[in-house]
Amino acid sequence: MRIPHSLPTLGEEEARGLTEVLLSGRISTGEEVVRFESEMAQYLGLKGGVATSSGTAALHLVLLALGVKEGDEVICPSFTCTALLNAISYCQATPIVVDIDEENMNISLEATKQALTRRTAAIILPHMFGHPVEGMEGFLSLGLPVIEDCAQSLGTIYKGRLTGTWGTAAVLSFYATKVITTGQGGMILSQDEGLLARIRDLRAYDKKKVYKTRYNYCMTDLQGRMGRIQLGKLPSFLKRRQELAQVYQRHLKEIKGITLPPAGGIYYRYVVRLMGKDLKMVIDKLHAEGIEAQPPVFLPLHRNLGLKGFAATEKVFAQALSLPIYPRLTEAEVDYIAGTLHQVMEA
Ligand SMILES: *Cc1c(COP(=O)(O)O)cnc(C)c1O
Repeated sequence: MRIPHSLPTLGEEEARGLTEVLLSGRISTGEEVVRFESEMAQYLGLKGGVATSSGTAALHLVLLALGVKEGDEVICPSFTCTALLNAISYCQATPIVVDIDEENMNISLEATKQALTRRTAAIILPHMFGHPVEGMEGFLSLGLPVIEDCAQSLGTIYKGRLTGTWGTAAVLSFYATKVITTGQGGMILSQDEGLLARIRDLRAYDKKKVYKTRYNYCMTDLQGRMGRIQLGKLPSFLKRRQELAQVYQRHLKEIKGITLPPAGGIYYRYVVRLMGKDLKMVIDKLHAEGIEAQPPVFLPLHRNLGLKGFAATEKVFAQALSLPIYPRLTEAEVDYIAGTLHQVMEA
């Protein structure tokens, strides 16, 4: 038995939908993408969306459309993926990486305030592992564009409102193992129709009257149809994630040395923190029992940049373990993973 860390949940509906689009002969960007954009905008209750070839492309375009350029600074947390660094550097802007809140593992408002300068042009807030960033009101009161990176938090609610509806714009990723998938893909959503129009203009190069540097970041209609089918399944995916998280919680809450994930998110990742055990040893032992668990962030951004400090990120990075969770996972598998982790922690 092998239990992968993450898996997409795909079925006959996707296979039929993709076949239909393929046989229609219209496979580049078109009507399916337009429908996917409007169905996603409707789900989030936002004015519109612009689909892209990846989440990274979506981050790049939203930064460009906000006017982020060389010499500008963009703030983001350290405990996230390097896609953020890439998008910022595509704009020749400077990433200003800040520490996290230890409890919810997301960007710290205090650290953000301390990092503000006259050059700060935007803040990227990833809701990591499906947990909402704490203190959204505080971030919004800073008077800067706030990009909510919802690549891991589609469906997460904070104080009664979906993540992605708080800031200037929301960015999504539909990579294979995200909450819903189109293989690769992304989207920007916003209430600001001017911003969306600028992003739409930058996304494709053909048939433009006035030349400027543009990008070929379109989503295909194959991906668009797949996204629509996956979005239709989102409520059942989210329900299943909650159920599996409950099973984990029942098993793990009494175990010494394990801190459960913060409540209140969609459990895109089930991230526990381990005390008194070496993380790598635990990962190796789980692996030997057929369980793929891993650190939830490959390498914090400050380490990629060779920066020192970042006490909370360092502490969480040393302790955090992401256990398998996805709609296809069975309760028997969760029983097995939790039981095995229990044994490893007591050994
Ligand atoms: C996956 C991810 C991205 C990048 O999305 P891609 O589609 O892989 O380019 C950006 N931010 C976060 C938080 C992610 O999890």
